[in-house]
Amino acid sequence: MNELLPWHQDVFSRLQQQREQGRLPHALLLTGPAGTGKQQLAGVFARSLLCEQPQARGIPCGQCHGCTLYAAASHPDLHILEPAEDSRVIKIDQVRELIESLSMSSHYGRAKVVIVAPADSMNVAASNALLKTLEEPPGDTVLLLVSARPSFLPATIRSRCQLLRLPLPGMDQARTWLAAQLADSQDVDILLALTAGAPLAARQAADEAQLARRTQMLNDWQSLAAGQADPVQIAAKWVKPEAVLPISWMYGWVADMIRLRKEGAQHLLNRDASAALLTLARQVDLVKLYDLLDRILEGLRLTSSQVNPQTIVEGLLLYWSNMPRSNSTTSIS
Ligand SMILES: [Zn+2]
Repeated sequence: MNELLPWHQDVFSRLQQQREQGRLPHALLLTGPAGTGKQQLAGVFARSLLCEQPQARGIPCGQCHGCTLYAAASHPDLHILEPAEDSRVIKIDQVRELIESLSMSSHYGRAKVVIVAPADSMNVAASNALLKTLEEPPGDTVLLLVSARPSFLPATIRSRCQLLRLPLPGMDQARTWLAAQLADSQDVDILLALTAGAPLAARQAADEAQLARRTQMLNDWQSLAAGQADPVQIAAKWVKPEAVLPISWMYGWVADMIRLRKEGAQHLLNRDASAALLTLARQVDLVKLYDLLDRILEGLRLTSSQVNPQTIVEGLLLYWSNMPRSNSTTSIS
């Protein structure tokens, strides 16, 4: 999450220029469409301010003490003001606490950086409490306010910040970036259309869709074991968007079933599904599971050949559903 996004390169360079010329404002308000990475830019810029040996164009080195502390989310000169976990607003106590820690000198002799995100989640009292700090930040403090809805901010806050409007990426840029983040099969254009061209929002939508697909497939996998589903129909459903992911997931489940039988619950890939996988694992013969694992590997290899993916998945699901099973869940140790 620390990379500089391609569509922020120009803005980032301008910020670095201002910084080199000693013209960097004490308070910046980063605005722009939701889901385009405004907060990520704030993070990269904060890191570059805290980095001890920034590379060309101000890119943080990633290796110095400052960068290491940042990566561990424990840099004492970085302050993040955001709603507490159980709340949707930033409260006055949080602002007071911030002001208190800003009154102390910087721990590493460099800048102190504050990220307020989303800035429009400050309630009125919190906003008022921050005004003085925005106007005259103590020492070498830089405040980065992030908001997709700057009109929700009080004018008193807005007028004390330099406005930095961040762009929506160009369609080609968004498409290229998103495609590199996703599995081959996912439809980049549809996802971008659904999220009004906002690539980070699109990636999140893709993750959620992926999660739902895996959950559904794990249910099918259990129904097959219980003899309650037809392997041919399930195979047709599974390969519909693409076949590599279902086969990879099957590999993970079977590998975990073997682990559960042999060594217990350590080192599982699918921790969230361990109970279901353990139940399934106890019903079948371990040797058969190893055999299935080999077949799945072979299936994965075949996906890059001319073999019809549905045939591959069908074969694997038939093998899985026809495996001899004991009814007892405890008989096999
Ligand atoms: Zn560094």
